[in-house]
Amino acid sequence: MNYIIIGYSVAAVNAIKSIRSLDSKGKIYVISEEEKLYSRPLISYYLAGKIKEDEMNFVEGNFDTKYNLKVYYSEVAKSIDFDKKLVYLYGNKKLSYDKLLITTGGVPVIPDIKGYKSYIEGIFTFTKLDDAKNLLNYIKRNKINQAVILGGGLIGMKAAEGLLAHNIKLKIIDITDRLLANTFDKEASCYIEKKLNQHGSEFISNNTIVEIFSKNKKLESVKLKDNKKINTKLLIIAVGVKPNIEIVYNTKMKTNKGILVDEFMNTNLDDVFSAGDVVETKNFITQENSVIAIWPAAAVQGRVAGLNMVDKKFKYDGMFGMNSVEILGVSSISFGLTNVQQKDGFEILVKKDSDYYKKIVIKDNKVVGVILVGNIERGGIYGMLIKQKIDVSSFKNELLRDDFGFLILPKDFRKHLVLKEYLEV
Ligand SMILES: Cc1cc2nc3c(=O)[nH]c(=O)nc-3n(C[C@H](O)[C@H](O)[C@H](O)COP(=O)(O)OP(=O)(O)OC[C@H]3O[C@@H](n4cnc5c(N)ncnc54)[C@H](O)[C@@H]3O)c2cc1C
Repeated sequence: MNYIIIGYSVAAVNAIKSIRSLDSKGKIYVISEEEKLYSRPLISYYLAGKIKEDEMNFVEGNFDTKYNLKVYYSEVAKSIDFDKKLVYLYGNKKLSYDKLLITTGGVPVIPDIKGYKSYIEGIFTFTKLDDAKNLLNYIKRNKINQAVILGGGLIGMKAAEGLLAHNIKLKIIDITDRLLANTFDKEASCYIEKKLNQHGSEFISNNTIVEIFSKNKKLESVKLKDNKKINTKLLIIAVGVKPNIEIVYNTKMKTNKGILVDEFMNTNLDDVFSAGDVVETKNFITQENSVIAIWPAAAVQGRVAGLNMVDKKFKYDGMFGMNSVEILGVSSISFGLTNVQQKDGFEILVKKDSDYYKKIVIKDNKVVGVILVGNIERGGIYGMLIKQKIDVSSFKNELLRDDFGFLILPKDFRKHLVLKEYLEV
């Protein structure tokens, strides 16, 4: 059996472990555009100077040999012939597969902004280790002490984490009214906004960049929707990532925003599977199709895809949005549906003081959303209540307790909650 995996990151690694748990002999070929395997979420720690490049691997050093892989590093899969079951690489190389897995991840979205040119020095995206390396060099070379981040979502905030460690003053601009709009409410956002202000940084809400000005191919300033101009030598564009489906454009593979897969992570083509940020699957809470571009989702999807590539019978039951960031010492974690109203049938429990905020959203006696700001201890347990769809009616009053934890859960539930299984952040 020949397995080919396109893209080498967390989804691929988990698929490989699954394949090898069932098939020790099959040949596994991996095509990796990047020159090494590393943990993508760690690039903000690298930017911050908290870890070194050789500390960013998330598997054992001998992974490729241990799992008997042939990895084509720094090679790009150019196209796929699904009829002949061939993957073409640049340089006329081709590989044939029996089973194919596409884990090409996401690519940054670049909005249409007047004056934007990809070659302008001082404009960065922030999704790869190379981005972090280039950014670090640029900051040092140009003695940057002020920067603009377009986008206050997960990647924008991760870039902020890295830049703040260099004491760079930030202006973070977002089209919504709050930071981390997918999983934060305005109140949670305010805790971080307050910290940013104390630091001399600023969150600019309900706004966006409409024009970029440069001179001699170097960034000079940006103009906002409200006509305000900000002089800056550094702009990070972090308005989101979109599934990297380029390789399957104009093929018979079905896509929407991402590659469409069933609960076995199987595409519409029999021997072709897909997992991670490139796919669109069911949201665990809403049951609607969506792209949930987070590490634990990619890990579980990869694991399920790998098992099914060998022996189709394992199901993926969906994931929900999740963010965990720490800005200027304020830690936060947020899951699921958090921006909902009581009038729509949700129960909302809140506990807060000046530096602490906890919000729990319940629907039909099940937790469907959580925000923790200032103290994220036991965040994982709330995540599991969502994932396990546990009926909380018998201990609802305990949910806001500072010491809420396993011991407070009814005995019967405790044995079902296996922490590692569900929260692999
Ligand atoms: C800055 C940052 C911080 C993050 N922090 C968190 C966090 O704290 N928590 C969390 O849950 N998630 C976080 N995420 C999201 C998380 O990193 C992703 O969900 C996860 O990496 C997705 O894994 P993946 O296997 O789908 O693909 P990716 O990690 O995106 O990797 C895909 C790989 O495929 C390669 N590739 C693409 N096309 C080809 C081709 N044609 N040929 C060969 N190779 C190809 C790409 O170069 C890339 O190396 C963060 C992401 C970023 C960018």
